[in-house]
Amino acid sequence: MRRALVLVAAVVAAVVAGCSPGPSTFEVNAVVMGTDARLVAVAQEADTAQAAFEQATDRMSLVEELMSTYLPTSEVSRLNAVGADTPVLVSPMTLEVFRAAVEMSKMTGGAFDVTYAPLRTVWRTAATAGQLPTDAIVAAALARVGTDKLTITQDGHVSLAAAGMEVDLGGIAKGYAIDMAVKALQENGIRSGIVDIGHDLRLFGERPGGGKWRVGVYRPPGVTDDIVLEVGPCAVTTSGDYARGFDVAGEWYSHIIDPRTGWPVKDVTSVTVIGPDAITADAMATALSVAGAKEGIALVESLPDFECLFMTRAADDEVRVDMSSGFRDYIAED
Ligand code: AMP
Ligand code: MG
Repeated sequence: MRRALVLVAAVVAAVVAGCSPGPSTFEVNAVVMGTDARLVAVAQEADTAQAAFEQATDRMSLVEELMSTYLPTSEVSRLNAVGADTPVLVSPMTLEVFRAAVEMSKMTGGAFDVTYAPLRTVWRTAATAGQLPTDAIVAAALARVGTDKLTITQDGHVSLAAAGMEVDLGGIAKGYAIDMAVKALQENGIRSGIVDIGHDLRLFGERPGGGKWRVGVYRPPGVTDDIVLEVGPCAVTTSGDYARGFDVAGEWYSHIIDPRTGWPVKDVTSVTVIGPDAITADAMATALSVAGAKEGIALVESLPDFECLFMTRAADDEVRVDMSSGFRDYIAED
């Protein structure tokens, strides 16, 4: 049912798109993973674009069906439900995301960690109760967090070593869905285009008309200055505390939680990452939110494939902008 709804959106929008001789730019809007998605494809024929869009939206919906913790039937929900030391056979797609998540955890010194989920429960409970959790509650959850307690076997099983462990791929699955959609478009004859899910996007191939792709950096509420990037094929992702979070006793806490302290990220309004593909750029933006501007920029300076921009809330409620040294090269002059 979920998938059928997405397809209807795709068909309608593709028919409306242009149809002059030579390649045209086709665009569809859909709802994927609870957020707005936009796909752009440069194609000779509307039929080609439409078929490609259908495959791509199908692929994105499949990622959601396999990995969403909001769906009790997903593979991730099944894994969370089986209890400690019970290997669950997962699909090659879910396995790929788990493997990438473990890599990203290593690359970011544990700032990105899909086993952080018991902390999500702690902070959701705190929000409902309107009361901050005690140190003991946070410590008990932290004891069940850690990629070292996540086992992936060669034959495609995943298991969680501690009782009460949970995983949540919310910081990486969207990026994977974007990469899968790009792959589907390419396999269906689309040489260039854009896949954007909720402000995380990937650009592939040559921009129609030549030159660089232009992308506006997502502006969190309250930020008025436009920052426009000029980039080649790459992924541009943004994480922020404005998107979702918890109100606990009148104070706003981010939905991104530091797996090392157990506390939500504070004062990092948004992080924008430029990276080679969407899965790593998505996870990196979440990880950098945890790391904060100083540690995060130092990490990115040590990685050749990434650049980042931080918007941080300062004491006077002003938004401070910091970026890695290479990020500036992508900012459009005009
Ligand atoms: P994003 O919008 O890509 O930054 O992803 C935010 C989502 O990542 C949250 O809603 C959680 O599902 C998940 N998440 C939160 N904190 C972490 C963390 N430290 N490591 C991995 N995933 C996290
Ligand atoms: Mg992310």
